Amino acid sequence: MGNNGDGWHTPAREVLRAGPHNQVAELDTNGTPGFSGDKELGTTLLEERGAVLSDLQEMLFANGRLGDERSVLLILQGMDTAGKGGMVRSVIGHVDPQGVDHKAFGVPTPEEKRHHFLWRVHKALPRDGQLGVFDRSHYEDVLVARVRNLVPETVWRRRYDEINRFESDLAGNGTTIVKVAMFVSLDEQKHRLAERLERRDKHWKYNPSDVDERALWPEYQQAYQDMLDKTDTEHAPWYVVPCDRKWYSRIAVMELLIDAFEGLDLDWPEPNFDIEAEKRRLEES
Ligand code: ATP
Repeated sequence: MGNNGDGWHTPAREVLRAGPHNQVAELDTNGTPGFSGDKELGTTLLEERGAVLSDLQEMLFANGRLGDERSVLLILQGMDTAGKGGMVRSVIGHVDPQGVDHKAFGVPTPEEKRHHFLWRVHKALPRDGQLGVFDRSHYEDVLVARVRNLVPETVWRRRYDEINRFESDLAGNGTTIVKVAMFVSLDEQKHRLAERLERRDKHWKYNPSDVDERALWPEYQQAYQDMLDKTDTEHAPWYVVPCDRKWYSRIAVMELLIDAFEGLDLDWPEPNFDIEAEKRRLEES
């Protein structure tokens, strides 16, 4: 809590967890659930908590060097312009890049299309001691694949179970999974797309097909809702994050990640050498 009682009053992991109180169609994407305070406080907090995340991630990395096989995987899924790229820069940007396995999933390549939809995901999983970040993920295969009729319904429907099994195995093998569904309102999306058209430095981000996707908003909302309903599990929980205010979505994901790391109960690894003997050796060298 900040000086005026501002700050997190309910943990992000509680208030944002998918469930009946966080329905996609009813979500206030401009809200700041669990948090009181303004952008200024949010920005300060992001820096402070970024330092905490950085230490935790370094501890995981250090332990990984000494054989700890655990890892953390952040999955970012969201509507166009929800701010996935900015999330990676401003949250993950706080940690040492050598400890991060980052992967963005675009339209499958011809080779990827020849394989099972989880094939490319397996290849991108975080190594031991790493923080993995997926910008889009296997969930595209129950979102765009469903809404755009890229595969028959019988195929995308069975993917929910396949995903649950896959993530259960992953968690069982030591990967802590944090899944974040990012939502902006249609209005805010329009505003962000308009900005991409206005500004020369943002033209490269504009994709004409994003406008076509807007027409499919209700279908996407349904697909997102089913995804949350069918794949929110204890070992791989979904969090529903309102993203109209970027500063809020960033501190929220920062908290979710810190929470995941804290659940690992990390400490600095014990040295595998005699410190006093090494001090003497160093002195004499
Ligand atoms: P972004 O919108 O994330 O900034 P972008 O417009 O730069 O991305 P890419 O990152 O190359 O484009 O690819 C993202 C596109 O790939 C999205 O339209 C997404 O729906 C699509 N995509 C990702 N995975 C799949 C999949 N499994 N099947 C079909 N399309 C997919």
